[in-house]
This record gives sequence, C-alpha cells and structure tokens, in this order.
Amino acid sequence: MDERRDQPAARCAAADAKDRTPCEGPLVAATIIAADGSEITGCVRHSARRLASMDGTRLHPMAALLPWAVDIYCRAAELPPFAWQVGL
Ligand SMILES: [Zn+2]
Repeated sequence: MDERRDQPAARCAAADAKDRTPCEGPLVAATIIAADGSEITGCVRHSARRLASMDGTRLHPMAALLPWAVDIYCRAAELPPFAWQVGL
C-alpha cells in the first residue's frame, strides 16, 4: 500500500486553511507582500485568491519578471474576497 495516499497533498503557503481548492502551478510561483510587510509565497491560484481577499496586498516587485504575474492580477480582479467562503 502506498503510504503517501494517507498524506494530504502538498499545498502552498498562500492557501487558506479553509480553501480546499488545489494548488495550480509551482507552489512558489509568486510572493505576496501584505499590508503589514509580511511576505507569503504561493501558487498562481492561491496568490490570486490572497490578493483578492486582503486589503493592501501586492505582488513582490520581482514578480514582474515572472510570466504569470499578470495572470495572478487578472484572476484577483475577477474574484470576490474570500472566494472559498462562497464556494468559488
Ligand atoms: Zn496554492
């Protein structure tokens, strides 16, 4: 029996504990800077969901060099805050 089946799939640090959607892309796709200056690194999906949910958050300036930075911002613009609370 494969013991890994009992382990939850690895999730990025940006995924909220209540957000059950799977990560998308690299788990360290982008770093988000919160309003208080703290940084959190996550996948494309959960970075966008964090951006849409937390006031004052932004992508780290180095994210501009990444091919998915615009994708993260566009996704965040279309998401409601805390999308996982309304089943998105
Ligand atoms: Zn993720």
